[in-house]
Order: sequence, then structure tokens, then C-alpha cells
Amino acid sequence: MLTKAAIISVGNELLNGNTVDTNSNWLESRLLTVSIPVIHSCAIIDDIDEIKNAIEYASGKADVILITGGLGPTDDDLTRQAIAKYLDVELEYHPEIFKKIEDFFISINRPLVEKNRIQAYLPAGTSEIENDLGTAPGIFYQDDKKIIASFPGVPSEMKQMFDKSIFPKLQNLSTGNLVIKKIKCIGAGESTVAEMIGDMMARDRNPLINCTVDHGIITLHIIANAADKKIAEEMAAKDIKKLQHILGPLIFGYDNQTLAEVVGQELSKKKKTLATAESCTGGLISKMITDVPGSSDYFTYGWITYSNEAKISQLGVDKKLIEQFGAVSSEVASAMAVGARKKAGSDYSIAVTGIAGPGGGTEQKPVGLVYISIAGPNSVKTDKFLFGSRNRDFIRLRSCQVALNLLRLNLCI
Ligand code: AMP
Ligand code: MG
Repeated sequence: MLTKAAIISVGNELLNGNTVDTNSNWLESRLLTVSIPVIHSCAIIDDIDEIKNAIEYASGKADVILITGGLGPTDDDLTRQAIAKYLDVELEYHPEIFKKIEDFFISINRPLVEKNRIQAYLPAGTSEIENDLGTAPGIFYQDDKKIIASFPGVPSEMKQMFDKSIFPKLQNLSTGNLVIKKIKCIGAGESTVAEMIGDMMARDRNPLINCTVDHGIITLHIIANAADKKIAEEMAAKDIKKLQHILGPLIFGYDNQTLAEVVGQELSKKKKTLATAESCTGGLISKMITDVPGSSDYFTYGWITYSNEAKISQLGVDKKLIEQFGAVSSEVASAMAVGARKKAGSDYSIAVTGIAGPGGGTEQKPVGLVYISIAGPNSVKTDKFLFGSRNRDFIRLRSCQVALNLLRLNLCI
């Protein structure tokens, strides 16, 4: 049986739109590195009974309960009282903790206020988790069924305390082995991918396959669970092989690879260079490409040719083409790609022209209409896309992903 964890994030600010709960996200990732999955996570207001109820609920489900927030010195910090109420014990004063708080204030040359004294109290039967970066110590509790570890909400303090004091304990506690691999796909919708892989996504299957989608990129998470790490690795590898067979060229990468990284690797491998000519994407493709370290090996030139004049003067697009077909047209996209490739002297080029909205659409040329052209040593291929009248960011980002994918397909297939 796998050891399982639950996370409770405490603080009104997490529930009123003021603070994004990044602590649980960080803890989830850390726990997975020791094969402890988080099976429950919640955000709770600063209220003793709400926190106590959350601990009660979590303890029915998980062996490790991690709490962040609510250990400060102010009246809205109520986690220590809630833990005491859950354990049905009193708070006990620890003079040695108070001494450390005093020393901390001396070290930062600030006066200690009486309010800080509460931080020297721990529920009876619990121990201190040392905090080297702030005044609030954490609280640690363990019985034969579970561990409860409570940290201050400040992310830097929580992370340091978790890594120093709790992570080593969890490494020893971990009973199973989770291996998580990701397959990244583009070019088909989530439901199509799900249909293609069929009952491999059954909920009671091991490896378990989960699917997430982000701007047209579908990520399949393959989670293999076995007593032995090597066996879990083999189970995941077997599934990856099956999925490669089923999904073929829809797969562009693995784990945290981006499309721009994959395209960059292919260009480097083939010793080819790339230029971009962007209109509606405003340089975003160039940004994605140059986000990759080492991209100077293959990226030569990027134009943002927003106006007709720029397309004509910078890329050599024929004025008549624009007059006859309009700036957003297959003909102009092709001419931009050909012009960019020629001017840059590169092996490949990507050109994009489209209507990102919200204004500027017509019946013939609606918002979301985008032409993407890839010019290479042997061909120029231009495709038309209708991304729908969604918001500007969506249309621009989707255009970039699709453009990079078209280049990938051109390079790889
Ligand atoms: P607290 O320990 O409850 O006094 O929290 C101190 C500060 O840490 C808060 O004011 C927030 O800015 C931050 N914080 C608390 N909880 C979280 C969380 N779950 N994720 C990110 N920041 C947090
Ligand atoms: Mg708080």
C-alpha cells in the first residue's frame, strides 16, 4: 500500500482572491519525488473549527497531513489551536522556543513584541519543526497511523523547513514506487486522443493514465505504481511504447519538453537554420524559440512585420499580392515565408498572418482566421486555420503552437 498525503492550506487570503496557493503545488511535486501521492488538498479559512474539521477529514484518508499557514503571531493565526483541539490537548509553553524567537529578533535588530509569545506554544505531545528563516516554528506530530506537519505559510520558510526536517522522514516512510512519465501531443483534440487510447485510460488501471490540455497541447501522464522502482519504470516504458504506436506523429515530446525545444533539437541535429516573419503573433514565436538556451545555433532572424509597408519593404512581399488578396491571405503568408527565408539566408522560415481580434474581422475573414506558412529547402506549404472568435491571447498562442508544430512535422517526417 502506498503512503498517501493530504495538504491543508490555511488562510483567508487564499479564499478571497488575494493570494494564490502555491504552497500545495510545491508540496505536491516534492511528495511525488518520494512516491507519496497527494489524494486530497483543500484551502481553509482562518477558523479553529474549520481547520480542525479539515484535519479530521484528511486523517481519515491520508497517512501524512501537511498544513501550511496560520502559525503567525496575530489573532487570525489559529492553526496551532486547531491542532490542539483536534488532538484534544492543551497548548504548552516552551521557554526554549521563546528564547530562539528572542534571539531571532536580536539578530534582525527588531524589538520583540509580546504577541510573538504565542509562537512558543505547542500542542501537548507535539514537537517543534525548526524555522531558521522566521519566528514561527512548525509543529510535528506522529502516532502509529499518521504524521501531521504544520508549517508557516510564507513559502520560503515552509520550503526550507519541509526540506530540512520532514522530507528525510518521508523518504523513509515511502512504501511504494511511483514512476510518472509524460507524453506531449499536439494536432488532435482531447476527446480524439482519449478515444484513440481507449481503455488504457480506465480508472482502475496501473499504470493510471491521466490527460490534461493546455492551449492545444495534450499531456498524457502515465503513473506506474509498483513495489519495485525498476518494475514501475518498465510498466511505464511499456505503456509509452503502446502509446507511441497508437498516437504516432501526434506525439511531439516527453516530460517537460516544449515544442520550441523539440524544433530546436531537430534543427541542431540537421544543422539547419530558421527565420521567422510574424504579423499577428507579434514576435511570440521568436520569443518561444529564443527561450531555449542555445537557440543562437539555429535561429538567425525574426521580423515583426505588422504593417503592409513592413511586409513589402522588409520581406519583399509584392504590393500587388496584398492589394489583390489582402494581408491576411494564403498568398501573402507564403510570400512572407519565402521572403524571410531569402533575406535571412536560412534553411527554413515560419510566417504567420491572421486576425487576432477582437476587432478587424469580416464575414469572409473572421477573427481567428490565421495563415501559417513554412518555407524549406524544397517546398513552401501554407495552411489556413480558423481558431474561432476567442480572445486575442488564445488566438496568438494557438497560432504559435501550430506554427511550431508544422515546422516540426516538416523537419521530422
Ligand atoms: P501565515 O503563516 O498564515 O501567517 O502566512 C504568511 C503569508 O504567507 C501570507 O500572508 C501569504 O502571503 C503567504 N501564504 C500563506 N499561505 C500560502 C500558500 N498556501 N501559498 C502561497 N503563499 C501563502
Ligand atoms: Mg495566515
